[in-house]
Formats: sequence, structure tokens, C-alpha cells
Amino acid sequence: MVFFTVPKLLNFKNCPPHLQFNRYVLTGYRPVSTCTGCLRSLFYLHNEFGNIYTHGVPFVCFLLLLPFSIPWSDVDEQWLCIVHYLACLSPTVGSVLYHIFMNHEGGAQIYHALLCFDMFGVCLVNTLGALPIVHITLLCQPWARRTAMFGYMLFSCHGVRHALTAQSGARRLKSFAFQALFRAFLFFLRWFELGTGNPESLHFYVIMDVLALMGGLINVFRIPERFSPGTFDYWFNSHQIMHVAVILAIMFLHWGTLEDLAWLKNYQCPSK
Ligand SMILES: [Zn+2]
Repeated sequence: MVFFTVPKLLNFKNCPPHLQFNRYVLTGYRPVSTCTGCLRSLFYLHNEFGNIYTHGVPFVCFLLLLPFSIPWSDVDEQWLCIVHYLACLSPTVGSVLYHIFMNHEGGAQIYHALLCFDMFGVCLVNTLGALPIVHITLLCQPWARRTAMFGYMLFSCHGVRHALTAQSGARRLKSFAFQALFRAFLFFLRWFELGTGNPESLHFYVIMDVLALMGGLINVFRIPERFSPGTFDYWFNSHQIMHVAVILAIMFLHWGTLEDLAWLKNYQCPSK
């Protein structure tokens, strides 16, 4: 039951050019709308409906439930908990706003501002989510830790600049390559016991990065809709699959970080 008139949805060819970014999605485009019109689209089916809810529902769940599982008072370095919580929330906030308002009457300008906000959220989870991993991996080597933090922030700044100016999904994905390689280096240090941290958390982090990369590639290559244009307009298209992969990746980041924080509580660096 809908309490307003549902607007007539558009085809790929007659929707505004800035919304024609996936030529394998042929129908279900919302017409250009006011803010109220965009918000009303939360209540009827269109081709962004799945994208809104695959990040909207997890956002509410993370916002309300994660604070109960984060050990705020158990660790001396409370900033680790705060940074981790913000990291888990950041990619879903920008994404939900982008997908709800992308057909706003402000046109291409509003669309690009929202896209930047969405990408900024992805940059934030890449940056903030990794800081506890850097800190804990190099816990007993203060100089290396500070240098690695600084280096990771530099890669992050580089990533943000590239992600916000990239002209394609492939370039956007590439923006995060240096950060991903840096994390792979930290995992290498842990694997060979050159770094510290809970051994239980490493596999969570590796699965997290595999899921994120897989989601990104599926989105770039438009799988599965490129094999059957028009079939996946509403459900199970590449962008929705990527959204689900991102949520799973955040959950693995969370489980890995919880293991590390529990380990941190009882760990003492050996005195030299
Ligand atoms: Zn999205």
C-alpha cells in the first residue's frame, strides 16, 4: 500500500545522462525528483531500491548493535574503539545518501557531490579501519609504528584524491591499491611473527580484503548483468553484490578487531 502516486519509471535511453552509468541495467530508473520525491522512492520498487536497502539496513544495525560488542572500557587506548566504530559506519552513510538522492533535480552537480561523499565513506573505512591493525601489528616497535601510521595516512590521502577524481569504477578501485598492499605487508609481518597481534584475527582480515576486492571487481566488470542485460535491473546486479560483499567485509573487520582488542588487554611488550 503506497500513500502517494508512484512516478512512471524510465528506461536507460530516456533517463538523464549522468544516471546512465550502467548500460546493462535497462529499466527501472526513477525520474528526476525533489528531495521529497527521492525520499518517497524508499517505498516503491525501482532499480536503486536494492542498493539503498543493502546498505541502509546494515547501517541501522551497525549503528545500534556494534557499540554493545566493542570493549570500550577494556582497553587503555580508547581511540582504537572510536576509530573502529566510525570505520564500520562510514561506507554505509555515504552510500545510502548517494543511492537515495542520485536522481535529485539538482542534476549532474548534485550527483557528483553525492558520489564524492559515497567514495569518501569508502576511503574512511580503508583508512580508519586499518589504524588499529597498524597499531597492534607494530605495538612493541614505537618508531616503526609511528612511521607506518604516517605512511598509511599518506597512502590514504593519495587514495582519497584519486578516488574522488576518478572517471570510472576501475580507476576508483585502483585508488585503494596502495592501502591494500600496505595491509598485505602488515599481514605478512604477522604471519611470520615479525609483528604482534592476536593470531586468531589474521584470517578475518585476509577474508575481509578478499571480499572487498571481489566486490570491487564484480562491480567494475558488471557481473552478472553484462551477460543478460535487463535481467538484473532490480535485483542481484553487480552493484548490489558489491554492497553485500562490503557489508560482509566490514563484519570480518569487526570480528578481527574484536580479537585484537581482546588480545591487547592482556599483552605486555617484552622489556629489552
Ligand atoms: Zn553503492
